[in-house]
Formats: sequence, structure tokens, C-alpha cells
Amino acid sequence: MPVLCGCHVDGLWTINETANAWIWLRNRGWRKLDNRSPQVCTRLLAIAALAKQRNVAISLHEEQRGGDRVVTEIYDFDAGGAMGPPQEISFAVNECVYGWTAAYAQRGTRITVRIRLVPDAGISDATMNTLRDTWRTGIESKWGNRFGCCDNAACDCRCTLTFGVEWVTSGEHHAVRVRVGPARSNMTTWDTMDTGDVASHEFGHMLGHPDEYPDDACPMRSPVSTGTVMHDNTEVVERLVRPFCDRLGETTSTL
Ligand SMILES: [Zn+2]
Repeated sequence: MPVLCGCHVDGLWTINETANAWIWLRNRGWRKLDNRSPQVCTRLLAIAALAKQRNVAISLHEEQRGGDRVVTEIYDFDAGGAMGPPQEISFAVNECVYGWTAAYAQRGTRITVRIRLVPDAGISDATMNTLRDTWRTGIESKWGNRFGCCDNAACDCRCTLTFGVEWVTSGEHHAVRVRVGPARSNMTTWDTMDTGDVASHEFGHMLGHPDEYPDDACPMRSPVSTGTVMHDNTEVVERLVRPFCDRLGETTSTL
């Protein structure tokens, strides 16, 4: 069973028996609280009751035991879906005359790209520190916390898709040369004048997305002029994050 995030507790039930308590999850129904021991059951019930009283969402892990769905763990109120086994993803992308390898890590609804920046001689450490902040902030805020994955029609229990950049010196998904700008950037060559918006576009290539602007070298390109981050460095739209929910066997929705 997957980890569920953003679940709401709308009801509680218990009786004067040992470790026999249930919670009603919105749009899902009754779930039995783990009865391995009275202590575990009591602790889970206390957290669930607090969440219900405050009307805040919880994350939880559940499993099937006989005919019952049993909640075995309840996490903090904003676990973000960064759970489950991490997967290293890598695949070839071919679009028109261009080709590259997309690569990133996905753990639940957390997507991470490890990038090794290779600055040209003469670019100072101070400049690089500033650029790393600018680029990471730009990428993570543009791509993350806008969509989520869910497994039922009502889309309660939705895990938020978040994106992270890790600046690494080895074990990278992508190596990026950094040169003195202004210049024309691409996925593997950035420059010192690049904004967070530009970095967010190149990040999209790392995730496997082609360009969406008109290109004389690619008259058949489709779609183009979409107004998205892959066209003009602006918006991340649902279809650009759908592959990550698809991989979990879930549907994508706007937060
Ligand atoms: Zn591009």
C-alpha cells in the first residue's frame, strides 16, 4: 500500500475493547487503527483525534489485513509524499534533430535532480554561490507545490509534487558547464546571466521535456507557442508533471 498524504479524518469510532478503534477517512471510508498493541492503537487514535479536531490533513501508511484496511503509521501533518522506494529514472529523448538523456530520481512525489556545475575559469566562488541560490530557488518554486498525485476520483489524500535540486560534485544526473553570460543556454551549458526562469526551462529538459518554441530547424514541432516553461520559461502546466503521477499509477491534479 502506498503512503497517502493530505488525508482528512472526518469520524472516529471506538469501543470498550482492547485496541479496537477506527477512523473515517474523507472519501475513503473506515480504516482500522493498528491493533498490534494497545499502546500503538492509542497513540494513533490520539493523533487522528487531534487532526480531526483541528481539521488538518495527515499523511499515513495503510495495509490490507484480512478484510480490513489498517492504518499502521500516521506521519506529521505535512509529510509531502517523499516516501516509498527511491527510483533512479533515465531515458533517451529524441525530438526533431535534438537528442539527450533525461535523468532524475523519484521518491513518491518528490523529484530530485543532482547537478554538477562546472564553472569556467575566472568565475568566482561568490558568483557561483549566488547563482546556485538563484537557480535552485527558481527551479523549486516554479516546478513544485503546484500539482499533486491522488488515487481516487475525489482526490482527497493527495500527495504534493515537489522538486529539488542537489548541487553535487559527483554522482550527478547532469553536468552543466557555466560560462560568462550573456550567451545562449541549453541543458548542459548555462551562463552567469541566466535567471531562475531560464534554469527552470533547462531543468525541464533534464526531466525529459522538449522545447515548445518555434524552431526553423524543426518546422513540424508540436506543440509550440504554448506559453509554458518549455516555450517562454514561464508556466509549469499539468501535462509537464503528469509523468510523475503516472509512474505511481495515480492521477494528477492542481493543488
Ligand atoms: Zn530548451
